[in-house]
Amino acid sequence: MTEVCTAIVAGGGIAGPVTAMALQRAGIAATVYEAYHDTADGIGAMLSIAPNGRAALDVLDAAHVLYDIGTPMSAMVLRSWTGKVLAELGTPPGLPDQQLVQRAELYRALYDEAAARGIAVVHGKRLVSLADNGSAVTARFADGTEATADILVGADGIRSTTRTLIDAGAPAPRYGGLLNFGALVPGAAESTRGAMHMVFGKRAFCGYLVYDDGLGGWFVNLPRSEPMTLAEQRAVPNDEWLARLRSAFAGDRTLAPDLIGRTDPDDLLVVGPVEDLPTVPTWHRGRVVLVGDAAHATSPSSGQGASLAMESAVQLARCLRDLPPQRAFATYERLRRPRVERIIAAGARTNSNKAAGPVARVIRDLVMPVAMRSLAKPEKLAWQFAYQIDWAATAA
Ligand SMILES: Cc1cc2nc3c(=O)[nH]c(=O)nc-3n(C[C@H](O)[C@H](O)[C@H](O)COP(=O)(O)OP(=O)(O)OC[C@H]3O[C@@H](n4cnc5c(N)ncnc54)[C@H](O)[C@@H]3O)c2cc1C
Repeated sequence: MTEVCTAIVAGGGIAGPVTAMALQRAGIAATVYEAYHDTADGIGAMLSIAPNGRAALDVLDAAHVLYDIGTPMSAMVLRSWTGKVLAELGTPPGLPDQQLVQRAELYRALYDEAAARGIAVVHGKRLVSLADNGSAVTARFADGTEATADILVGADGIRSTTRTLIDAGAPAPRYGGLLNFGALVPGAAESTRGAMHMVFGKRAFCGYLVYDDGLGGWFVNLPRSEPMTLAEQRAVPNDEWLARLRSAFAGDRTLAPDLIGRTDPDDLLVVGPVEDLPTVPTWHRGRVVLVGDAAHATSPSSGQGASLAMESAVQLARCLRDLPPQRAFATYERLRRPRVERIIAAGARTNSNKAAGPVARVIRDLVMPVAMRSLAKPEKLAWQFAYQIDWAATAA
């Protein structure tokens, strides 16, 4: 039986609402405090939710949100810049397909689901400091207001304030050598029939798919050795970025040049630098704990950040259901850290292939077709995709 009755969840992205729903299932009343005034203000990009993320939502009877807004992604086709198929990765047998969602729609759908369950999501509340007196935590927000609860969960993303409040020396995000862009383009060629094509281009990496209605979606990871903040990236006009992206894919023999070439500058999403957090030493202190990207941000290359956030939310709630806070947080960290750090490391390895320089690229193009024959098999993804949390089992 839980000792914790109330929780503050700082951050209303993906981990925030899912944590609040999971805590509710564990008998803990949570309120979500989100910094922005609206859900998913100006946030773009496609996300794939893997079967393990869906399984976490299933524990909460919330997986339907994915099906309400998502499109199934049945395969990933890896290609070289020549168009040659390096590997085709279907969903491992016995598991549901990944679901492709728009980030803003996922935020909105999770927010609606939490609200329908009576969970309050309060907007315009940016956590700036906290006070933990050993039996309760008080959060202070930028607007001068406060909230108090038995525990505080920091679900405030890769640039988490909570992370630095519990550990002033906490690491900052690490730049992965790539800048991220994306767009939706109407009137594209033939449907890719649920397959996402991932192209190791000559000078940049591109993922694309074409929906059955002809809408094409693409993202590009453009190598750049010097880091650039999102604000710096957005200070460059969109048509200038598009010109650079077109020249990066000039001569590649895939659909990428066509999709990028037909993108209107107004539709270009400048998403920001590719970043991760290889390891966060402190996941909890006193009555405060981290979840989602605040604790374990993996680069987008893993396609797992949102799914891991959902898993961690459920595991944290299960531990708090069965154990007093200190033991619950320690057990949660012990159950989660090896898995999330393994996935973060795998994502970082993919980044280095995407950011290969001219010499490394030649080696990559020679080695990859051979390596892919043995490595790129659906069953090799099973350890990531088939993971499930046994909610009924007691956490110990
Ligand atoms: C370009 C890109 C593509 C990606 N693709 C995929 C993918 O295909 N599949 C996948 O699984 N993952 C993907 N990811 C990763 C995924 O988006 C993250 O792992 C996921 O959003 C983490 O959820 P979160 O709730 O922890 O953080 P976030 O979604 O970042 O939410 C954090 C929330 O906290 C709020 N906040 C911040 N500071 C404060 C504060 N001080 N007080 C209160 N609120 C605050 C923010 O406004 C935000 O709403 C991608 C990421 C990027 C950048």
